[in-house]
Amino acid sequence: MTPTSLTPPPDYFQYWNPEIETMSRPELEALQLEKLKIAVTWALRTPFYRERLPKAGINSAEDIKTLADLKRIPFTAKHDLREAFPYGLLSVPKEEVIRLHASSGTTGTPTTIYFNREDIKKWTGYVARCIYGTGCNKADVFQNMITYGLFTGGLGFHAGGEEVGMLVIPSGAGNTTRQFRLMQDFGTTVVHATPSFLLHVESIMRSEGVSRDSICLKRAFAGAEPYSEDTRRRIEDLLKIDVYNSYGLSEMNGPGVAFECQAKNGLHLWEDGYIGEIINPDTLEPVKDGETGELVLTCLCREATPILRYRTRDLSSFYTEPCVCGRTHRRLRRITGRTDDMLIINGVNIFPSQIEEVIMAMGEVGNNYLIVVEKEGVLDRLTVKVEVGPDIFMDDSRPLNALRDKIRKTIQASITINPRVELHESGALPISEGKAKRVQDSRPKDV
Ligand code: AMP
Ligand code: ZN
Repeated sequence: MTPTSLTPPPDYFQYWNPEIETMSRPELEALQLEKLKIAVTWALRTPFYRERLPKAGINSAEDIKTLADLKRIPFTAKHDLREAFPYGLLSVPKEEVIRLHASSGTTGTPTTIYFNREDIKKWTGYVARCIYGTGCNKADVFQNMITYGLFTGGLGFHAGGEEVGMLVIPSGAGNTTRQFRLMQDFGTTVVHATPSFLLHVESIMRSEGVSRDSICLKRAFAGAEPYSEDTRRRIEDLLKIDVYNSYGLSEMNGPGVAFECQAKNGLHLWEDGYIGEIINPDTLEPVKDGETGELVLTCLCREATPILRYRTRDLSSFYTEPCVCGRTHRRLRRITGRTDDMLIINGVNIFPSQIEEVIMAMGEVGNNYLIVVEKEGVLDRLTVKVEVGPDIFMDDSRPLNALRDKIRKTIQASITINPRVELHESGALPISEGKAKRVQDSRPKDV
């Protein structure tokens, strides 16, 4: 289903937990308040918040009387988690902890989150809710093509898939040829991967002559990195599947924070488990309804490592209108970038996702690209390296020049910067199995 297609019949949408997913807003907010009080109680058991919350006048859950009191709680940032490493945010004795996970470290040294048994159970429930809400059920075969280990995407989705009752294949990331073999042998119907790995899988399938008809894939969950609507469509068209956007972060357990339903139009933030706010990252004040800003999340579903008002650095906004699926939990727009991945090129602010949008909308272009920023004299120089699609031949210079020119002009029209464009053969640019590294910024940091 595309976001603008006709309204589906009422029985089209399936809910994992109908009572919670469709509860009225006043009931949902009452539930949030109750859970926030509990989260504050857990927080006050950690060395970090025991020091921080009383300074803001919060000495016990009694000090939280309405949801508006959330604003009295100071923000928690990534550097706080690093400073509290290893146990400053632990609320329970170590013998109560059964698992730890860490952030993937895309933005620096990892931060660690601990789970007790109850935490794992609740987290699994949220992931199962997401998976089931895309139309999956126990008849599905789920191949989890993402890194297992400290990263939450592997074990988080694995447990959620089992909870739904699907047959889960823990294939992990990488080893592309083996991935199709598994899909063919076991009749995989749904996969989870980063969007870049899905594109990579598709291009290898094509180059190895694996026919689409030899696999029975229907759906993919794609997340862990920002991607555009055009990238989603491209994956959907190439693989002939439905792609659902999956958002999460280790500080909020991992996957299962916000997910698209079958309407595929925004990600429902599970507000019985997380409180979401959108703030202006400069003034730290809330933005107006529907405006874009930094997402701040409070975890209402974890005891061992309570985290309140976490500044995610992710840029998004809430839809103001309700979803056709009947769920009452608000929807987030696709993450467009982070407050910290913004590039300033010769004084112009741009997001890598803007360049991606332009490239991925072009049919002649392949699945991989790299944005390179360097100094040339005193000026910044932007180079966009792009793999060409299979129909373009590298030894025929006329169409290549035309394509190079087209990409350059379209990027310039979008971001006002005139980039240098380099075309590369399919498969020539580096591919990572985890999160794709799309930007190479070699400018000296202190100039
Ligand atoms: P980690 O804690 O390592 O799981 O990284 C979490 C970060 O990955 C988030 O804060 C986002 O910046 C990014 N991320 C995860 N899922 C998505 C998604 N669906 N779209 C955009 N960015 C995402
Ligand atoms: Zn919905």
